[in-house]
Amino acid sequence: MRDPAKFLSDEYAQLVAAQADWKLHVLAGPSQPWCTVDGRKVLMFCSNNYLGLSNHPKLKAAAESAVRTHGVGSGSVRSIAGTMDLHLELERRLAAFKQAEASLVYQSGFATNAGLIPQLVGDGDLVVSDELNHGSIIDGVRLSRAERAVYKHADVADLARVLETAEGHAPAYRRILVITDGVFSMDGDVAPLDRIAEVAHRHGAMVYVDDAHGEGVLGPGGRGIVAHFGLGRDRVHVEMGTFSKAFGVVGGHISGSRALVDFAFNKSRTWLLSGSHPPPVAAACLAAVDVLEGEPEHVERLWTLTRRFKKEMGALGFDLGVSTTPITPVMVGENARARRLSDRLLELGVFALPIVYPMVAPGKARIRTIMNAALTDDDVGFAIDAFAKAGRELGLV
Ligand SMILES: *Cc1c(COP(=O)(O)O)cnc(C)c1O
Repeated sequence: MRDPAKFLSDEYAQLVAAQADWKLHVLAGPSQPWCTVDGRKVLMFCSNNYLGLSNHPKLKAAAESAVRTHGVGSGSVRSIAGTMDLHLELERRLAAFKQAEASLVYQSGFATNAGLIPQLVGDGDLVVSDELNHGSIIDGVRLSRAERAVYKHADVADLARVLETAEGHAPAYRRILVITDGVFSMDGDVAPLDRIAEVAHRHGAMVYVDDAHGEGVLGPGGRGIVAHFGLGRDRVHVEMGTFSKAFGVVGGHISGSRALVDFAFNKSRTWLLSGSHPPPVAAACLAAVDVLEGEPEHVERLWTLTRRFKKEMGALGFDLGVSTTPITPVMVGENARARRLSDRLLELGVFALPIVYPMVAPGKARIRTIMNAALTDDDVGFAIDAFAKAGRELGLV
């Protein structure tokens, strides 16, 4: 008899042969500037923990205390018996932080995009997406029955062209949704959301921004891309984000009008049919909002270090791509060379992983660095020295 599951090992073997399989690195202990990765003390230079909150004493204390008062599980999905006071308090505090009428928390950012997008658009609708949008948006769009169009990356003129073409569509689309990442995770560039919102408004389209990498980073006090551009909720209809990056915990969320939130929680299948956050998670997220409101110095520190890193790496001759945020790609070119640079950096004590084709276009392999507010000045100097040494050895600078 033919083994119906043989493809599992066949396909895995192909990935290994193509060096396209994931080799997991193991942290023993917290994600912090100096961590133990695969048994070695190294400088963490590629986590999404921008502000160092994943190991912040206030977040840890809040999680511990919630375990004592509320236990380790919520007992249900939010819609049945799994909405605790902690969840509602988190949503109130997040909405205040975002200066929005209301917010809604999902289990993860991925669950937010996968659950909400297919409810916003369906049969007879059009969704218009930046070509470099995150995979969770792509999957959310695939789950909808809407027609799809893609515009060139961050290209507002191309978006306008797509929307003009859509106006001539017969029968007329019922709704049009324009969707973009706020900060693009591979390049660190910022979507021109002000101009995107303007063009969308002219064509009567809704706007959805996924600000996973902009929150805690952009805007006053790290309030995110909508605050950064000072846009009204009548221009950006869904501001989506995650607690898994700068907030240092886990969980997705949306902010916008009360109508958006009422619609979203009654319709999103990921929200309705999947267990809610355990109490320590909700409490730690709540503490993260507290820290962002009460300790703005973390966001300032992140930008100070980011500016220094870009300046000194640029002066050394590294190609840093088009980033304007704490995600700084060090462009290398070929996959094998990016892997060699990453390996050498690890030997020198810096943990920064390569991003290679097919995650990015062929010939655009890079080391993606992500700055962290918890690093000391000496730590950043240490990383720059390691890049300089490894870069010279590999003939990059
Ligand atoms: C990380 C990320 C997500 C997923 O968020 P999770 O909360 O980790 O599931 C979604 N969109 C973008 C742009 C991301 O970078």
